[in-house]
Amino acid sequence: MTDILTYGFTPAMLPLDTQGAPARVTAAHKDRYELVCEFGVCFGRLKTSVYYGGGLCLEEFPTVGDFVTLNYNNRGDSQIIKTLERKSFFSRFDPTPGRGEQAVAANFDYVFIIQALNQGYKSFNISRLTRYLTAARQSGALPVIVLNKADLVDAEERAGYVKEAEKAARGVSVYAVSAKTGYGMDSLGEYLKPSKTLVFLGSSGVGKSSLVNAAAGEEIMTTGEVREADGKGRHTTTHRQLIMLSSGVMIIDTPGMRSLGMWDVSDGLSETFADVERYLGKCKFSDCGHRSEPGCAIKSAVESGGITRERWNSYQQIKGESKSAAKYAEDKIAYLRNQKELHKKWGKEGRIRDKAARKNSR
Ligand code: GDP
Ligand code: ZN
Repeated sequence: MTDILTYGFTPAMLPLDTQGAPARVTAAHKDRYELVCEFGVCFGRLKTSVYYGGGLCLEEFPTVGDFVTLNYNNRGDSQIIKTLERKSFFSRFDPTPGRGEQAVAANFDYVFIIQALNQGYKSFNISRLTRYLTAARQSGALPVIVLNKADLVDAEERAGYVKEAEKAARGVSVYAVSAKTGYGMDSLGEYLKPSKTLVFLGSSGVGKSSLVNAAAGEEIMTTGEVREADGKGRHTTTHRQLIMLSSGVMIIDTPGMRSLGMWDVSDGLSETFADVERYLGKCKFSDCGHRSEPGCAIKSAVESGGITRERWNSYQQIKGESKSAAKYAEDKIAYLRNQKELHKKWGKEGRIRDKAARKNSR
């Protein structure tokens, strides 16, 4: 017996009319899911009529971290009959025709945004930080900024970085830590509580795997040094994408998460850049390009120090990236049309499978 509550499930997540047993998705493969439910670990497939109905109002495809309900089958694959409402998620655009926006992780409580304090191109970078922050805010979970490799800088530099991050982060907590020496790791304890789920965002090499291992107190993930040494895959102990640590904390690490980097950032953008957006629409000309036009409110704000040049630059950079997301919205109609075709096809295959399954279970 597994207590699904330890996986973060709460009965309030179930709508009143829900049937089936609650379960959490621990890994997602092409059309098969690994799950935990009250009966333990099991596999599941989507119920065709619910997920591939042919119309456009289909049940959301589950992803890692999702809570779902099952028609449990102790002799074979269970049937997933519903995706419960998500309290947080990350999605990315999958360019494969008919795929569109795909959730890559769901129902995490905290997003640890990791940057490293060493020198080099992968080091501390405010505009990258704000980009991650925007995505984290948009996900619905609580962002936490973790500046790793604090052992590589002196106390004064460290304090400077923390201050700079705090200024950009507006109210989000910032911690300087070292996965290597353990410095500052205690301060993360308040997030590492049983039945809480974490995701780690950050460029490769900043020490995400090392931090997971340090937080877990065991070698859950293969770190850079080992990867370089033997060229083996990422996970030492498991292929699961939602990992339950012995402390009761869960960590989601999916292939899709690792390729995050292009989000529709428009929603969280205003919140992160409230200090910049305050000046928008105040220029003399409504079509001001904010370069050398007379009466430009942005230009004078930068000159007077109301906003820094870096803030303005990172705002523009992110704004530019969210344009590609806007393009995606335009393509959405074509995308939905493709979906419909695919669902028809998958639906047919699935119905044949469901029929066979029913026959077998008789
Ligand atoms: P990931 O790609 O983000 O998962 O990063 P890894 O955890 O694989 O770490 C990348 C490299 O940074 C490895 O060589 C680690 O040993 C090293 N590293 C990780 N954390 C620290 C730290 O706190 N201090 C120092 N000096 N090195 C670290
Ligand atoms: Zn202007």
